Formats: sequence, structure tokens, C-alpha cells
Amino acid sequence: MNKPLKQHLIDPEICIRCYTCEMTCPVGAIEHDDNNVVVNADACNFCMDCIPVCPTGSIDEWRVVNTPYTLEEQYEFDELPEQGEVDQPDASGTEAGDAEVDPVAALLAEAHKGAGGKAKAPATASKPAINLHNLGHPVEAVVQGNYRLTAEDSDADVRHIILDFQGKPFPVLEGQSLGIIAPGTDADGNAHLPRLYSVSSPRDGERPGYHNVSLTVKREEGGLCSNYVCDLEIGAKVNITGPFGATFLLPSDPDARLLMICTGTGSAPMRSFTMARQRTVGTKPGGMMMFFGARTPDSLPYFGPLKKMPDELLHKHLVFSRMPGAEKEYVQDRMRAEEDAVAEYLKDPKTHIYICGLKGMEEGVEKAFTNIAESIGEQWLNLRDAMREDGRYHVETY
Ligand code: NAP
Repeated sequence: MNKPLKQHLIDPEICIRCYTCEMTCPVGAIEHDDNNVVVNADACNFCMDCIPVCPTGSIDEWRVVNTPYTLEEQYEFDELPEQGEVDQPDASGTEAGDAEVDPVAALLAEAHKGAGGKAKAPATASKPAINLHNLGHPVEAVVQGNYRLTAEDSDADVRHIILDFQGKPFPVLEGQSLGIIAPGTDADGNAHLPRLYSVSSPRDGERPGYHNVSLTVKREEGGLCSNYVCDLEIGAKVNITGPFGATFLLPSDPDARLLMICTGTGSAPMRSFTMARQRTVGTKPGGMMMFFGARTPDSLPYFGPLKKMPDELLHKHLVFSRMPGAEKEYVQDRMRAEEDAVAEYLKDPKTHIYICGLKGMEEGVEKAFTNIAESIGEQWLNLRDAMREDGRYHVETY
């Protein structure tokens, strides 16, 4: 009889194909084809290095199996298989009176040591399309717009890119991402892997019914794909993969309340949420609150349009870290300063939390939530885990 084994897997529905896990794995256990990113059960040593770098949590999947899924089987997954029945371990050597141990529960508990919780989509979110266009069969989009969002003299060159799919199917929901494949090859002669960007437009397009898609892209020094994208001219053709992502989504419930926390280009999905809600729900006092951090107003994407939004639609806190003559302020500092307003959102079972942007912000934001939750007699970790289980806590940080 086989001894049950725990196997590390990746959820193909949630994975956004950013390949960060593959680049991080110290033993080369993670690989991909055109379709999926998979884990080689013979090579994975459970070091967990890939867990914290995954922006979606799709990497944090485990199954107890008698025979591990092969790479070929994993490449064919459209969704993860359910946990199946496994053989009971050999009973020889068991002392009389030993409690019966469920081998699946025991192995899964071990696998989850130190790992984060599993992300879930909002219960009322629309069902997203995923991975319609993959590495082997990208879809071609045409550039409809490329506008600089930050001041010309600002160090940050952040662009609003508009892509038109010219009638080809690319059904995208707010909060999803797409991949852009830069032309050319790497030093080994292989095609470049796609770089992931969150969509910043609502599902029906920059204008209702246009069905085009916008992105918010920052030029990174030496960045292969960001420079390619930021230099794209109107009419240029771009190879796109995706859409990706099945959890960082917008609830359809008009009474849901959104608490959005973002830094820099992490504002992309928040723009798509805000525009979608404006179109579907309209002004609803107390419906949306945003904490948005950038270095200066000049480098905050969408500063102008955001300033014009009425507070009844979006209660916004634009927070700056490098204003001459002012103290550095981060989103978590402002959340603390606005403790009562944040606490009011935390108390409401209709609240969804979205955190997007720099990985480094997570710790500070978690600490702020811990203090704010305490102020209303709640334990943040319990509240957060309950919200996540309920599909109301969403994080996408890089
Ligand atoms: P950035 O300009 O480097 O930073 C934005 C703000 O965050 C600055 O005010 C910065 O302050 C502050 N900050 C730095 N460390 C922080 C911390 N520990 N806690 C709170 N705030 C902190 O941001 P960016 O270059 O736009 O980067 C945004 C991130 O979002 C990237 O990692 C990107 O990969 C990710 N993202 C992008 C997209 C997209 O679609 N483009 C989607 C999802 C996520 P100081 O610099 O003054 O310290």
C-alpha cells in the first residue's frame, strides 16, 4: 500500500501567470508550458520560498495523494482537483489506545505551516473568464491611447495605456490582469515571458460599450516590458495573454462597501472598481473609501480625476511620502489617523477590503488594522481570516 504524500500544487484559476514563483524556486521545481504553471513533486522540497512572493495566493495549494499528479496531468488542469480519498497509513506499530489520526488532515496541517490563507472571490462576483489566450496563442490588441499620467517633470513616468481588441474576445472583469509579451528574445534565444498588468478600466470599457481595456504602467529603469509598453505608439499591435485572476474581483451586490488601500500603480484595479461602481451603483454615501499613497501629487496616477470625484461617491485619502517640508506619510499612517472611519467599515459585514501595490506596504497596513480592530474589541487576525473565508479580503502586492 502507498504511503499518502502531501503534494504542492498551483491553482490554475487563481494564478495570474506572473512566473514569480518559478523565478524564486531555489531547486527549479516550478515550470510552465503555454497553459499552466506547475510544481514537480519529485523536486519540491517544501522550502516555502515561493509562498510569500506569490501575489495571489494561488501557490498555496496542497493535496494529500497516494500518487502525485504528474507534470503532464497538471498541465491539463483547468481547475484544481478536489482532495480525494487516500489510503490509510500502515497500522502496524500503532499502540493500543492511540487516537485515530486522519492522514489527510495531519499532512495538510503540516503543509500549511506558516502559509497564508486561501484567497476567495466575493460571493456575488461575476464568473471571470481565465486564460483564454495563452503563451502559445496570444491575442493581438491595437494601441488606442498612451497618455502620461504624471507630471512631465516628475521622476515617475506612469502611463495610461488603452488597448482595443477589435472585436476579438477578451472578456475582462475589474480586478483581473493581462499579460503583455514584449517582442524579441532573451539572452538564451527564448521568447520573453509576459509581464502582468492589472486592468484599470471597467468591464464594459473606458466608455460604456467600447469594450476596450486600459492599463496603468510605470516606466522602470532598464525594464524590458515597461519601456516597451510606455513607448507604444497609437496603432501599434501588441501580443496579449489572459485574462487572469479569479479572486481579486468586484462584488455585484450594490450594498457592498469597498475599503481600498493602494500605492502607486497598485491603484489600477481601484480605478476599475470605482468606475464600475459609479456606472452600476452611482453615488452612495459611505459606499467606497480609498487610501492611496504616492510620493507627491505630481506622481500620483489619476490625481486630477480623483480630486474631482465627489466624497459621496468615493471618500478618498491621498497620502504623500515626499512632500517638501512635510513629514513622510504612508497609507497606514493615514488609516490610523482615520481610525474611527476605518473601524466603521470593519464593523460592517458588507465591507470588502482590497490591498494592492508594493509588497512592503502589507506589514504596515496589517499593523494599522490590528490597532484599529482592537479599538472596537476585535482581534484583527480572526476578523481578517473570517473576511477572507467570506471572500471579502483581497490582497495583490508585488
Ligand atoms: P512607488 O511610487 O515606489 O511607491 C508608492 C508610494 O508607496 C510611495 O509614496 C512610497 O513611499 C510608498 N511606500 C514605500 N514603501 C512603503 C511601505 N512599506 N508602506 C507603505 N507605503 C510605502 O510605487 P510604484 O513604483 O508605483 O509601485 C507600485 C507597486 O504596485 C509595484 O510593486 C507594482 O508591481 C505593483 N502593482 C502594479 C500593478 C499595475 O497594474 N501596474 C498592479 C498591481 C500591483 P517612498 O518611496 O517615499 O518610501
